[in-house]
Amino acid sequence: MNYISTRGAAPVLDFEATMLTGLARDGGLYLPEHVPPMTTAEIAGLAGQSYEDQAFAIMRPFIGGAFGDAELQELIARAYAGFGHPARAALKQLAPNHFLLELFHGPTLAFKDFAMQLIGQLFQAALARSGERVTIVGATSGDTGSAAIEAFRGLANVDVFILFPHGRVSEVQRRQMTTPSEDNVHALAIDGDFDTCQALVKDMFNDFAFRDSVKLAGVNSINWARVLAQVVYYFSAGVGLGAPHRPVSFTVPTGNFGDIFAGYIARAMGLPIEKLVVATNQNDILHRALSAGDYVTDGVKPSISPSMDIQVSSNFERALFDAYGRDGEAVARVMAELKESGGFHISQGALEFLREAFASGRASEEETSATITRIARETGEVLCPHSAVGVHVAEAHLSSTPMITLATAHPAKFPDAVEAATGERPSLPPRMADLFERPERVNRLPNELAAVQSVINERISA
Ligand SMILES: *Cc1c(COP(=O)(O)O)cnc(C)c1O
Repeated sequence: MNYISTRGAAPVLDFEATMLTGLARDGGLYLPEHVPPMTTAEIAGLAGQSYEDQAFAIMRPFIGGAFGDAELQELIARAYAGFGHPARAALKQLAPNHFLLELFHGPTLAFKDFAMQLIGQLFQAALARSGERVTIVGATSGDTGSAAIEAFRGLANVDVFILFPHGRVSEVQRRQMTTPSEDNVHALAIDGDFDTCQALVKDMFNDFAFRDSVKLAGVNSINWARVLAQVVYYFSAGVGLGAPHRPVSFTVPTGNFGDIFAGYIARAMGLPIEKLVVATNQNDILHRALSAGDYVTDGVKPSISPSMDIQVSSNFERALFDAYGRDGEAVARVMAELKESGGFHISQGALEFLREAFASGRASEEETSATITRIARETGEVLCPHSAVGVHVAEAHLSSTPMITLATAHPAKFPDAVEAATGERPSLPPRMADLFERPERVNRLPNELAAVQSVINERISA
């Protein structure tokens, strides 16, 4: 399986190189040259299988020769062994024809564990074979960093450094990053906000001497292997509700467009998905783009669903690539326009292409909070604010086709917003109830590239 860049000017890579590279050298994102289709019989055959067996069948064709069958099965088994639910992605019913897919039973209580746990295993296996070591550096506003640390802790060929804004992540998120005791895990609290952290990471990737000397690698949401791992639960939920014999729809709380793009790939593989509904909070660039065709940045407004507080959605570029007829130059042009003038107009043809697969909606802060309150009262299900954005938007798109809304985090990860809406503080699952007693380990650093780089150099040579 070959992977090509959305901007058409980077080398074609195989799966393993794509995973280890992350961002393409022309600034684009990697995509498979062809999406391998599954037949109706193959999709029907997934029904009743374990999540792990489904994952193997769905991902195998994308991975090519990078991992043998038995090895891949073993890595998948290890990735999901730490989940707190035997179904891994558990389906619940909220209302007639409306279902919730609980994606928060992983070790850090957010859907990012599905992808991160697997790529931790894939990285380690690939590096152990080549004898290489890499340094993973990432910036986080909370969920990505904790998922990355949890996935890479204790792995022999990887050091992981996560930069988070000091004082600006929730206590649960911070403790998930600062309490792992393994020597290869390094939580760095930076004086600044999320953009400060992200700028420092970008500067490190652009410092080629540093980048090569520490063998920098990235695992942010544009990494293709993360998208691929997320394709699986669209199938598991779809066949659980009768696909391929009847269609389903999904509503996805969306920030960087990684999760919903995985649904788009499932659809391209043959899963009968009628609509993929993009649900945004008040940071609604995607909803505005799909409604009116203008993809224009508007500054980030902090919300009670902070993991969806984004300025631009990096993975949207992958959907644009298909919408513009896989013309890398056209994508490069609109991306340059976005960078220079803060926005661009999506061509009529491209917009029609996108609207065939995607619908969209937004939830205000009040609507999000009211949805948490009402769903808890009506069903007993306590939603996190991100999942509540999804449920609110899904309710405007219900039809005779079963709607599956993705629940992206556990309510206990965002206890303040949930308590404000329900009057009750959600508690952590028993397996992590001692999070608040574990000792923390963290380096507080100023917003200075040299200071961060010298800590990284010291730690990896220690
Ligand atoms: C990351 C995240 C999202 C957004 O997912 P994208 O793939 O960036 O669209 C939504 N909800 C939660 C809880 C998250 O952590």
